[in-house]
Amino acid sequence: MKYNKTPLVHGYANQILSIELGNDHIAVNQLDQHVRDYFIGGRGMGLYLLHKKVNPATTAYDAQNPLIFSPGPLGGIPQFPGTSKCMAVSLSPLTHIPGVSNFGGYFGAYLKYAGFDALEITGIASGNTMIVIDGFKREISITKAPDSDQVFDLEKTIIDQFIREGRQKKDIAFLSTGIGAANTTYGCINSHYFDATKPVDGTKGLFRTKQAGRTGLGSVMSHKRITAVVVLAEFPHGENPYGAADWEKVKHAGLKLHNIVKEIDPKALKMHSKGSAGLISFMNKDEYQSLPVNNYQYGSHPDAPQICGTAYAERLFEHRGMDGCFPGCNLRCTKGGWVMLTSGEHKGQKVWVDGPEYETAAGFGSNLGMWHPEFIMEANWHCDNYGMDTITTAVIMAFIMECYQRNYLTQEDTDGFDLTWGDEKAALQFIHDLAYRKTALTSIAGLGMLELITWIAEKYVARTGKSNPRSQLEKFAMQTKGLPFSLYRTHRSLSMQASYAAASDIGAHHAAAWLVKVDLLGAFPTFEARARALITYPRVRLGNDNLGLCKLPWVDVFNPESGLRKDTDIYINPASQEIYADFYNGMLGANMTWEKIFEQTDRDINLQRVMNAMAYGKETCGHDWIPDRAIGPTEDVLYEREIDYNDQQLSVILNKDITEIKQMKTADKREILMRHRKEELRKLINVYYRERGWTDCGIPKVDTLRQIGLWNFLSEKAKEIITQTNG
Ligand code: SF4
Repeated sequence: MKYNKTPLVHGYANQILSIELGNDHIAVNQLDQHVRDYFIGGRGMGLYLLHKKVNPATTAYDAQNPLIFSPGPLGGIPQFPGTSKCMAVSLSPLTHIPGVSNFGGYFGAYLKYAGFDALEITGIASGNTMIVIDGFKREISITKAPDSDQVFDLEKTIIDQFIREGRQKKDIAFLSTGIGAANTTYGCINSHYFDATKPVDGTKGLFRTKQAGRTGLGSVMSHKRITAVVVLAEFPHGENPYGAADWEKVKHAGLKLHNIVKEIDPKALKMHSKGSAGLISFMNKDEYQSLPVNNYQYGSHPDAPQICGTAYAERLFEHRGMDGCFPGCNLRCTKGGWVMLTSGEHKGQKVWVDGPEYETAAGFGSNLGMWHPEFIMEANWHCDNYGMDTITTAVIMAFIMECYQRNYLTQEDTDGFDLTWGDEKAALQFIHDLAYRKTALTSIAGLGMLELITWIAEKYVARTGKSNPRSQLEKFAMQTKGLPFSLYRTHRSLSMQASYAAASDIGAHHAAAWLVKVDLLGAFPTFEARARALITYPRVRLGNDNLGLCKLPWVDVFNPESGLRKDTDIYINPASQEIYADFYNGMLGANMTWEKIFEQTDRDINLQRVMNAMAYGKETCGHDWIPDRAIGPTEDVLYEREIDYNDQQLSVILNKDITEIKQMKTADKREILMRHRKEELRKLINVYYRERGWTDCGIPKVDTLRQIGLWNFLSEKAKEIITQTNG
């Protein structure tokens, strides 16, 4: 189908592309101005489009569940660092509530350049399908997809096809997923883009990938039988090509942030050489105990330096080239390198691996008791190639390993298969079996953590004749709302516990409120400061998701001017936030402070909570909780491992001298400590509800929704449910 497009205005294309796969219906609709100005873009816009299409009975695999891709008005503008992001939004087959995941690369920018602020896809195709949005010809087509189960074979076929049709590699950006997405509920979506700067075998240029990993949206894509979504486009030309209200202001803001990144990163985190895996050393510090080891049992390990950022930077990453996942990002954290595969059907082949990022490095490394970077990179590659989320895969594996450790599972239950800490060969076998659903264990593991708990409990009862161990398993099955934890051990950060439990509405992920690092650094000395942080940080973090921005240039590059500010939270990096405000105001023609800009995020935070409440009803607050393992020591031996820290905390709680605490029995101390931490967490969550204007049940009050103007955007069904559950 042919379509029209107009030049970008204030970063918007002002059109939405809707595709119904059941009947190949394609529609290009004007973006409603009120909707645009209220929901801004990205995640907020995606959630609104989702809300319009679903009701409480809709499931993730229903044809009417839309899969939405939405960049944002500040995405795709290379004059400012970190404008690579696009959001994927849909009902999640893993959690059954709205799933949201951001990804980098060129796809979001190209979608906008091709003429669209969002793409929404409903229906289920009758065969494997490829959607092509051709921004050059202004044409959309739905075609038969190349046959391939695996992402990197598919990548080659797709690129060859478009090169044959006369396109250059730099014109092509696409999304794909693989067999693992079809066979699990936690498929990832790969975002492919051409990096012209990376040297390869005497030539230059390589297709690279970023992933929308969380909440299983690759499985939705696979279920709709979408093998790939391709956008062909080019950067807009001319002066002020993105339609900024004040282009000079935008360029000036971009240059300012660029200079801060250039000056600070080489002296601080060195993201340009270590990538985000550099965080391993920080989390592993003795005083923080926040690197998950052996399924979050421990918080540091002497072997961690073997998998830290320096290890990759010195031995494995290929530093030549730019490593920005979008032009203009001089933080350049998208690292990668070559490894030789030791397993699977490509065994013996040398492959390019994009990553690992911190989450994957900790997930397949310390949390599985594995200390070889090559293993981690191989596991990373297989997951990308099969189209499976690395975090979910790794955390589910860690849970299974602990079940073997504690004899909740034995080889008798799993046809002789055994998954133990540090066994790389078995771990790789598990990943291959998972992708193809080869064994009873991997078939059930592919459904998610909650289904796995039930299965293991049943196996245990059948084998031992003992009582059902479900409540014991739930203590160390690291999930919230069905979403396995991202890789932070939260014992020493109450703020992060509350963030995983309640502030992150997709489940236990750090995108909404990554508070662990600043909490460990002492940013929130009082209970009130913690409660405030649960409001302010998600506003900024999810606000970035609405705008199409990467968080790393503000969160990982501390502007020295922020340190000079008085009477404010310097950890939110206020001096850099002001630069972002200039960018926003310059593009959109507004005149707002950064605080006011990000306050707007309350709209979509509330919308997401409304949708969760539509799924959970009055049980909503019951889902805002985390397993015991995330709160503190789940057994005496784990208390003793961090005895000095735990005793010290107990001494404050009980107002007793430390010598008196040392004389108490460990079991008694642990019980008091766990009770206290749980009470504190519950208290913090309740304050968070109050601050948000939600009921004690965690449901937005009608008055709150009216005050922020969201009420009129809600469906009649949503209004009915919220009114009922408010009572
Ligand atoms: S900081 Fe890293 S992830 Fe973010 S846009 Fe830059 S290169 Fe991409």
